[in-house]
Amino acid sequence: MQGKNKPDFTTLLWDVDGTLLDFDYSMRGALQKCFCTVGKPLTEEMIRRYSQINDGYWKRLERGEVSKEELLVGRFRDFFSEYGLEEMDVEAFRKEYQTGLGQIYAYRDDALTVVKSLRGHFRQYVVTNGVTATQKSKLKLSGLSEVMDGVFISEAVGHAKPSKVFFDYCLEQLEEKDRDRILIIGDSMTSDILGGIQAGIRTCWYNPQERPCGYTYNADYEISVLQQVYEVLGIYTGKADPSCVYV
Ligand SMILES: [Mg+2]
Repeated sequence: MQGKNKPDFTTLLWDVDGTLLDFDYSMRGALQKCFCTVGKPLTEEMIRRYSQINDGYWKRLERGEVSKEELLVGRFRDFFSEYGLEEMDVEAFRKEYQTGLGQIYAYRDDALTVVKSLRGHFRQYVVTNGVTATQKSKLKLSGLSEVMDGVFISEAVGHAKPSKVFFDYCLEQLEEKDRDRILIIGDSMTSDILGGIQAGIRTCWYNPQERPCGYTYNADYEISVLQQVYEVLGIYTGKADPSCVYV
């Protein structure tokens, strides 16, 4: 049931952190686990501050200003230094943190139901920036990897979103060669949407907090809950429960 003005999409590229899975939940859980191990208190304010430092490093990585290694270590070094925790073992902490990130997960908006309902009707792939072992573990435990037709992780590709090299590599592996029929869905304007635009595919910004865009470029579509992807794909469910699609 494609709508009249909708491109005939065949292939969906999903971002993971902040889109299919709740990254903040994983981050919070991993930090709490690590601080518990070293027997130090972790406050809400510290979690917020770590999140800001982490986001800052990821933005700098997207702009090519720091390497992945600098990000993985630097975010904790800066964080510990702000709170007078210089004695903390950054290497041990970051290892435990990465393990925790790969084990603790929560879906956003019933994401598993959404991607399961689309399986067999669209080819679906994960396109994610992150540490391979962490992302693979989280995708496996969450059941997402078995629903997907493929998984592309920046560390394994050697380039990260929004780099055109990353997208060109992924797009080369896809059966669909018409870029108008490929849609990326992600929560980041700077990695998912900019990367999608540069790669010449269609873009859908997942914006659950309905923030203003604030960039000179814009996504083709914007959704605030994942179930709205059905409208973007031209699917009319006619029912409140999106799991009923295609049933
Ligand atoms: Mg994301």
